[in-house]
Amino acid sequence: MNQFMPEVSDDKLHEECGVFAVYTPNKDASRLCYFGLHALQHRGQESAGIAVGDNATVLVRKDLGLVQQVFSDSDIAALTGHVALGHVRYGTSGAKSWEAAQPHLSTIGSEIIALAHNGTLVNSDALRRELINLGVPFVSNTDSEVACKLIGYFTEQTHHIREGIHKTMELMEGAYAMALINNESLYAFRDPNGIRPLVLGKFANNEGWVISSETCGLDIVSAEFVRDVLPGEVVRISKDGIDCEQAIEQEDEALCIFEHVYFARPDSDIQGDNIYEARVKMGRQLARESKVDADIVIGVPDSGLPSAVGFAQESGIPYAEGLLKNRYVGRTFIEPTQELRERGVRLKLNPIKNTIRGKRLVVIDDSIVRGTTSRQIVTLLRDAGAKEVHMRIVSPEVKWPCFYGIDTETQDQLISANLSTEEIREHINADSLAFLSIDGLKKCVSSGGYCDACFSGDYIVEIPKEFSKGKFLEGYTPHNLKIKTNHQTIQGSCPLDPERKGL
Ligand code: SF4
Repeated sequence: MNQFMPEVSDDKLHEECGVFAVYTPNKDASRLCYFGLHALQHRGQESAGIAVGDNATVLVRKDLGLVQQVFSDSDIAALTGHVALGHVRYGTSGAKSWEAAQPHLSTIGSEIIALAHNGTLVNSDALRRELINLGVPFVSNTDSEVACKLIGYFTEQTHHIREGIHKTMELMEGAYAMALINNESLYAFRDPNGIRPLVLGKFANNEGWVISSETCGLDIVSAEFVRDVLPGEVVRISKDGIDCEQAIEQEDEALCIFEHVYFARPDSDIQGDNIYEARVKMGRQLARESKVDADIVIGVPDSGLPSAVGFAQESGIPYAEGLLKNRYVGRTFIEPTQELRERGVRLKLNPIKNTIRGKRLVVIDDSIVRGTTSRQIVTLLRDAGAKEVHMRIVSPEVKWPCFYGIDTETQDQLISANLSTEEIREHINADSLAFLSIDGLKKCVSSGGYCDACFSGDYIVEIPKEFSKGKFLEGYTPHNLKIKTNHQTIQGSCPLDPERKGL
């Protein structure tokens, strides 16, 4: 068996951000934004921020922490204006700073813009170098600040924010679902593959518009879903109403399929699918693909629960609640002691012993990344008296790093890139182990294009050589990874369409 030594830490992939924005002349925009960010908190827990525009200027408050830790009632009351932009962030290590928190600001002459980003730009290093050479200052090392400064740079040249956004979209490569405000208006735009989700909603009685990473953000402020922001599209909302245009050509659609598996909240709808229902279907599909003789089906909270229901429905094996989640041990500023940390998953999950004792269990989880949590869960269940533990995973094996907005490891940290399924079973000490197939997963989601690169190695957007350096194990050759070395430069012409209106 290979030596596989993952770092012991939280064993999940992490979404890096949630974006929320409101345009409403008659309501309290920043308070609505605050509630929208609460609904999107699962997409990022390390920092939160809100920027607000009031026709005169843009104010921002942001800090490290959960939404409720960052904002007091008086903070929200002080953020007055008709257009608000919010962000929650999960920062990768090394970037957990106030400066990296969003929204980012850029000053254009006397005008300020604020930008919030979900995704990852694969060519941000090259763009940052060029901007620095042009004399543009930076306060963080984030790709989102590069986008903000780039839009500011081009807007200053053209005096049109839309031109600034257009030109920036032509240069940015990778995944981006972004929203931007100035003191008057709100803009939202997505990369040409539509990798990360972004939806448009509206309030009843023409009272305004909402932009959100997920539809659960619309629900909490009682806004109605209108449609997805389209790949390559720019939506502008201002006192003149809403105005949409295809800024850059749409490419092959490639929505992140992990949104359905794990990231999105089950009460959200993405690409026409309700996420809860999609997860039930995944459980049913897995039961068809990987049959097992057992007494009860249990799910690992929270995202494994709908799929456990589906597995039970399809297999006829009774569903039971076997693991309880301690909801109040989350990401906080109070680090557990070393002794408590060693208790690992026991801090978060507790078995219901009377349900489990003496039973042959099917245990449904959403994914295995490093394998550390799965191993602890199996131990937990055996200690609680389980007779057999059969792990069933409602995603394919995660073998490839993500370059599009998800905090994945280098390949040497991904257990499925290092061990065979049988070796993983042995490593986590389960009686059996099976993963959902890629084809099976795609049967459970609506038709449309999806990114599945972390399962398949099929990368939709070219990755610059320097960006992928050190990420792949020797001997792994990803499909469609074109090692890109050249890129467009900032100092090209910046076409201005005289027909377009101003800011
Ligand atoms: S590589 Fe995986 S996690 Fe990343 S965007 Fe594609 S499907 Fe989502």
